[in-house]
Amino acid sequence: MMRPVPRPGLLAIDAYVPGKSAAPGSGRVYKLSANETPLGPSPAAIEALRDMAHEIAIYPEGSSRKLREAIGARHGLDPARIIMGAGSDNILELLALAYIGPGDEAIYSQYGFLEYKIVTLAAGGVPVVAPETNYIASVDALLACVTEKTKIVFLANPNNPTGSYLPAAEVARLAGSLPPQTLLVLDAAYAEYVTNADYEAGVALVDAHDNVVMTRTFSKIYGLAGLRLGWGYGPAHVIDALNRIRSPFNVSSAASAAGIAAIDDAAHVQAAIAHNSKWLPWLAREISALGLDVLPSVANFIAIRFPTTPGRTAADADRFLTARGLVLRAVGAYGMGEFLRLTIGPQEANEAVVAALAEFMQEAK
Ligand code: PMP
Repeated sequence: MMRPVPRPGLLAIDAYVPGKSAAPGSGRVYKLSANETPLGPSPAAIEALRDMAHEIAIYPEGSSRKLREAIGARHGLDPARIIMGAGSDNILELLALAYIGPGDEAIYSQYGFLEYKIVTLAAGGVPVVAPETNYIASVDALLACVTEKTKIVFLANPNNPTGSYLPAAEVARLAGSLPPQTLLVLDAAYAEYVTNADYEAGVALVDAHDNVVMTRTFSKIYGLAGLRLGWGYGPAHVIDALNRIRSPFNVSSAASAAGIAAIDDAAHVQAAIAHNSKWLPWLAREISALGLDVLPSVANFIAIRFPTTPGRTAADADRFLTARGLVLRAVGAYGMGEFLRLTIGPQEANEAVVAALAEFMQEAK
């Protein structure tokens, strides 16, 4: 029987599988699988949503102008060089569609965020994977993959799911060494959690180069993941290209209103940073003390490595923790089957994870 068939290659793309949600009705459950903030959204964002509810019969202003202005004011950026998206995933997708054609190559690091592969394949491009040692992206390995077909290099910094971080000087070396026709996409979804002076390094790199774009999100520290809101900052010519293919109303008026309120609530962001700065090192220390390796992380999650011994594996731990209402993220799809990724949660969840892991390690002996 004849039926429409997706274009060649499309059915070879594996869909992104999000972190498990908390199963309803199974007692107290902590979802620590999607790097969401334990503090929730700013109360001002919730209020803004309520206040705009009567407007939802009306289309939003298509370019999210007011939100771009609010972001511009907050970060000292030209709003004309910002583009809003339905999550930063939307910006990554637009970048791939705009710059990658059939047969073109896009490079990302071995344990880089999985969406890079998906958007590259969706655009008809060829994903090229640069090897890592010790779960940290290598600028030299990325550069060694560059050919005349390389249209984009994607780099998440900090990276998900490893939590690893390349210092600003290394990222600057990458930006400075790429051919001018290759776009460097700096995915800074977790930038706010980086507590050293590098925090806004992406902005300076965008300003210094004609081929560097930064993506950011409201899903993580701002606690608006469910509204789908992200943005890109880049040279005017890149923003112009993306705006030509952006769907006309890709950001809802609800998301815009909440985003404007959230970006104005600096105290809420500070509280989230303070919470993370306290619990990230605590979890890393406590979990290491149980004899498990954790990858050094600067983000709001940590990757925990489990032994390969039957009964003690990551899959065993995943079952053990899930049964206790602690939902972590299996990262086998990243080629990290020995790991589980744990989002920094509220205090009770963090303490419950450590207690459960201690029990797991004890039982597995
Ligand atoms: N980049 C990275 C590195 C991420 O971890 C995520 C969220 N999983 C995203 C981008 C996309 O986030 P969002 O679309 O919610 O902005």
